[in-house]
Amino acid sequence: MWCCPDCNWRAPPLFRKTRTSIGFDGHMTTQPTASHFVNGAYHGNAGGSAIPVIYPATGEEIARVHSATDAVVDAALAAARAAQPAWAAMTGTERGRILRRAADIMRERNHELSVLETFDTGKPYQETSVADATSAADALEYFGGMAATLTGEHIQLGHDWVYTRREPLGVCVGIGAWNYPTQIACWKAAPALACGNTMVFKPSETTPLCALKVAEILTEAGLPAGVFNVVQGLGDVGAKLIADDRVAKVSLTGSVPTGRKVYAAAASGIKNVTMELGGKSPLIIFDDANVENAVSGAILGNFYSSGQVCSNGTRVFVQGGIKEAFLDRLSVRLEAAVIGDPQDPKTSFGPMVSERQMEIALGYIAKGQEEGARLVCGGKRLNRNGFYLQPTVFADVADTMTIAREEIFGPVMAVLDFDDEAEVVPRANATEFGLAAGVFTRDLTRAHRIAAAFEAGTCYINTYNDAPVEAPFGGSKLSGVGRENSKAAIEHYSQLKSVYVRMGDLEAPF
Ligand code: NAD
Repeated sequence: MWCCPDCNWRAPPLFRKTRTSIGFDGHMTTQPTASHFVNGAYHGNAGGSAIPVIYPATGEEIARVHSATDAVVDAALAAARAAQPAWAAMTGTERGRILRRAADIMRERNHELSVLETFDTGKPYQETSVADATSAADALEYFGGMAATLTGEHIQLGHDWVYTRREPLGVCVGIGAWNYPTQIACWKAAPALACGNTMVFKPSETTPLCALKVAEILTEAGLPAGVFNVVQGLGDVGAKLIADDRVAKVSLTGSVPTGRKVYAAAASGIKNVTMELGGKSPLIIFDDANVENAVSGAILGNFYSSGQVCSNGTRVFVQGGIKEAFLDRLSVRLEAAVIGDPQDPKTSFGPMVSERQMEIALGYIAKGQEEGARLVCGGKRLNRNGFYLQPTVFADVADTMTIAREEIFGPVMAVLDFDDEAEVVPRANATEFGLAAGVFTRDLTRAHRIAAAFEAGTCYINTYNDAPVEAPFGGSKLSGVGRENSKAAIEHYSQLKSVYVRMGDLEAPF
């Protein structure tokens, strides 16, 4: 692989020789150089099975990593275990300074990291340049700032007293999904490391590259060797990490079926868990809503990242009086989507992450048609290389249809009709998932009443899919356990120790 004709940069061994990897207006100087990152350095080991990295915009193999062998898994866990006491013994200010320095480096290299994120996921550079390394940097900065503020409390008991120490859990395992590889690595690493834990992170096998850059940048920022490690592999590698006695906590971002397995495996070792799982979230649009804003919310909640966002509002309930105006404006605005090369900054809609994911979405589109939903627009694969699917909208969808019940994780919106609030809220909640929910209305009282009634971890009023680091993010029901981001994440990466102090003599019965 080479960067561009007039660039001296040479391809590192990880990458394949292909023209695809030319950065669209820059030089690809930030490639990871080996499959794993262990104990402060890139760690190559071709003993495990090969995992091809496919560029979704062309279908070409652009790189190849190798699954972690047992020896690599052991080396990563041993490094994390060995590094943890000294990392925890540093002051929060010292730990935080390193995380904040890493945030600064990420922001400085946003362009290169965004290009890499686009190669890894196929998401348009227009998105990756504002949503991936940037939100990862926000997490490192936020939890870096918080590290120095983590304290226990003093509890007076007459003359005696108790104090609590907020202590790290130990070695944490992070397991990522493929849609936001840089962000997911940092949403897990930043709070874990701020609390004095160390981490072994396993990215999704579909997008293995970006987490390696996170490890490299943390190391450059001064992170001691072994505090953050990355190993590659499929579910079997994740399962080995979870089963290891050295591991105190598992944080997964993935689907509900994987969540069940990971939660069960963690339970047998009584390990802490955070589960960020799938969703089928409702978005309710009332007659009195601002149509343009409601259409914007529906677009953000269905077509950003080609629909591959866990919190998407894919069941769009639209009240009768606004339905035609909503569908008309939606169709017009979808026409304006710029579908194409994700590395062109003008492109606003890119390919899906993989052929498999595209086939899954196509299967749901066929099911929607079979079951009688009305196809308003899209529905087809584009006639070009790569895994491109048209933004797709179904109307007249019934609650019982498969496309209204199952997570598709692709650019497929289901529009459902409703008459009034009393009817729509129970329908919106009638799902096993509970990740997110949104409402568009000008009636503030109604908006807050519905937000309170939603059975979901993250709710939106006249907006959709915001996820700033300052606010808790996570799901209820099958969508998850625990919260990421915000002060709430600290509770999931630390434990309290109570220390009882007797100031006088101690009485005993005999
Ligand atoms: P997935 O469940 O297939 O895989 C997730 C990760 O788990 C991968 O790294 C995979 O290798 C690993 N894994 C698989 N089996 C395992 C096992 N038995 N033990 C340990 N690890 C195992 O999910 P995906 O297809 O990568 O991602 C899409 C899913 O993720 C969707 O359901 C989406 O909603 C969800 N997601 C949730 C959030 C959230 O914050 N709630 C964010 C992004 C994605």
